[in-house]
Amino acid sequence: MHEKDVFCKIVDGEIPCYKLYEDDDVLAFLDISQVTKGHALVIPKKHYDNFLSTPQEVMHKVMDVAQRIGQVSIKLLGAKGVNILSNCYKEAGQSVMHFHVHVIPRYGEGEGFEISMKDNSKGLNLPALAEQFKNNL
Ligand code: AMP
Repeated sequence: MHEKDVFCKIVDGEIPCYKLYEDDDVLAFLDISQVTKGHALVIPKKHYDNFLSTPQEVMHKVMDVAQRIGQVSIKLLGAKGVNILSNCYKEAGQSVMHFHVHVIPRYGEGEGFEISMKDNSKGLNLPALAEQFKNNL
């Protein structure tokens, strides 16, 4: 058995959280860091390391709750947008090795959170890259 991570401890009630939603398989609670107001995390109660290694039916249940929380963020908090993201592995910024989806409400300028995606396509062979993917999906 793996050593319990912080989210396993939240599931087991050993660490408190501000719970938003719970059912047999899924738990959602406020992220302690509140990148923006209402920043939520959605996790499977059972431990899986990340999105990529989570069985499809569990992943679907988690994403279903993430979608509903995103919808509520807009309706209830007046967010103008929402980022839904899941970091997989350390190199992608994952710090808690238990699958979780961030639901981050966006309010526009001055909120202090930015995702910047630069165009790094120069020099890449996009047709070959697409072919590689196609052949492996
Ligand atoms: P990531 O970097 O994608 O692995 O995100 C992990 C997130 O978990 C961070 O945004 C942390 O603020 C959050 N976090 C860590 N410990 C707790 C906790 N005890 N309760 C709520 N959120 C937490």
